[in-house]
Amino acid sequence: MGRLFGTDGVRGVTGTDFTPEMGLRLGRAIGAFFGKGSRLLAGRDVRAGGDMILSSVMAGLLAEGVKVYYAGLAPTPAVQLAVRRGGYDGGIMVTASHNPPEYNGVKVIGPEGIELSREEEKVVEDHYFSAHASRLGWRSLTESVELRHGVIEEYVEAIAEQVDRDSIARLDGKVVVDCANSVGSLATPLLLRRLGLKALSINCHLDPEFPGREPEPTPDSLREAASLVVSSKAILGVGHDGDADRAIFIDERGVAYWGDRSGALLALHASRKWDAPKRVFTGVSSSMLVEEFLKPQGIDVVWTPVGSVTIARTLWRERGIAGFEENGGYIHYPHQCVRDGAMKLALMLDLMTSERASASELFSRLPRYFSRKTKVRVTPEEAACAVESVKELFAGYRQITIDGVKVFGEDFWVLVRPSGTEPVVRVMAEAREEGRLNEVVNAVLKVISDRCKGGRA
Ligand code: MG
Repeated sequence: MGRLFGTDGVRGVTGTDFTPEMGLRLGRAIGAFFGKGSRLLAGRDVRAGGDMILSSVMAGLLAEGVKVYYAGLAPTPAVQLAVRRGGYDGGIMVTASHNPPEYNGVKVIGPEGIELSREEEKVVEDHYFSAHASRLGWRSLTESVELRHGVIEEYVEAIAEQVDRDSIARLDGKVVVDCANSVGSLATPLLLRRLGLKALSINCHLDPEFPGREPEPTPDSLREAASLVVSSKAILGVGHDGDADRAIFIDERGVAYWGDRSGALLALHASRKWDAPKRVFTGVSSSMLVEEFLKPQGIDVVWTPVGSVTIARTLWRERGIAGFEENGGYIHYPHQCVRDGAMKLALMLDLMTSERASASELFSRLPRYFSRKTKVRVTPEEAACAVESVKELFAGYRQITIDGVKVFGEDFWVLVRPSGTEPVVRVMAEAREEGRLNEVVNAVLKVISDRCKGGRA
C-alpha cells in the first residue's frame, strides 16, 4: 500500500496530482476516521485550487455524515486554536504550507488542535486506499456546511493575552511583515496593531500566485523584507510561510536568522516566564548551538526526528517549555501545542521588551557557527549506505541516529539525512572555524562518493 501523507499532511500539484476526485476520496476517508455525526472545522490558505480541493473534501465529509463548519481563509494555527477551543472533533486545513505555488494539500487536525499522529494518519490511509464509501440513505444525509465567523479575531486576541502588551507598546516602533501574499496577511498586521506597534507590510495582499516571493521564508527569500527593515529603521522584520505557522526573523540591521537561533532565544525566555518542565524538543536539523546555549541554563534539549507533527506530538505527550525547528516553526506550549508564526512574533517582541535589547543584540548572545548545507542525489540503497558510512567515519563521536545520523564534535556538528520528499541525502554541518567546516563536509561527501556511489559525485 502506498503512502498518502508526507511529513506534514497530504500534498500534490494542484489539478494534476491533487484532483477533485482525490479530494472527494480523501474527504470520505477523513469522514470515516472521525465518524458520522462528528463536527469538523475547515479552513484554507490562499493557494490556487483551494476552493476546488476544499469543496471536494467537504463533499466527501458530508457523504460520511460529518457536519462541517467553514472558517474561511485563515492561518493554520488560527484554525487549530479554534478547533481546540471550540470543542470540535477535529479539523481540516487546505494548504501546502511552504511548498511552491503549484502545490496544494490538506492537513488533518485532531480535537486537541494538533495534526493527526502517524498512527492515526495510517487509519485515514487505510480508508483512502480501500476507497471507503458509506452508503447513507437520504434521510441520514442532513448535515450541512455552516460558516464559522471570527476565527482570526479570536486567534489574535488569544496571542495578545499571552504577552506583556503594555510593555510591547512602549517599544514604539515599526515591524516589517512579509506574509508571502498568503493568509498571514489576515492576522499578523492585525496582531501588531493590537500590540500597539506599526506594521509595515510587504507581500501582504492575498494573491494565489504568490507574486512577491516563494512561500518558504528563508534568508534568501526575505531579502526585500530585510532591505525594507533597514531603510525604514524598523525594530524587527518577520517572514511567514504560506499558512503562517512559521516565522523567520530579521534584525534591525537586516540580518535574517534561521529558526533554531530564534527558537533557542525564545525557549530561554519562555522558561523564565512560564512554569513547565525544563526541556525543549527540536528536530535533528537544528544546530548544536541549541544545546550549547540552553544546557548551561538548566534546560534539556530532546532531539526528535525532523517534522513538526512529530515535535508537537512528543511535546504534547511529554510536556516541556517549547518545541521548535530550524525552518522557523515554534510551539509556545502555554498558547497551543502547534507551530504558530504570529505567536512566535509576539514572543519575540515580549523578549525584546523584557530584556530591553535590540534584536541584533539578542541574537549576538548565541554561539557563532559557520554553516553549510548541501545534498547528494542517491538511490534509496545509496542513501542507507551514506548514513552507515558516515556513522563509521565518525565512530567514537557522540551520534544521534533517530533520523539519518547526526554527529557532535568538539567544534562542529554534521547531519546526514535521507530526504522524505526527494531522492537525495541532505548534508547539514556547522563548525566554529570555516576551515574546519569545509574539512568536515568534504570528508562526508568523499566517504559517500567512495563507498556508496563507486567514486561518482
Ligand atoms: Mg506551514
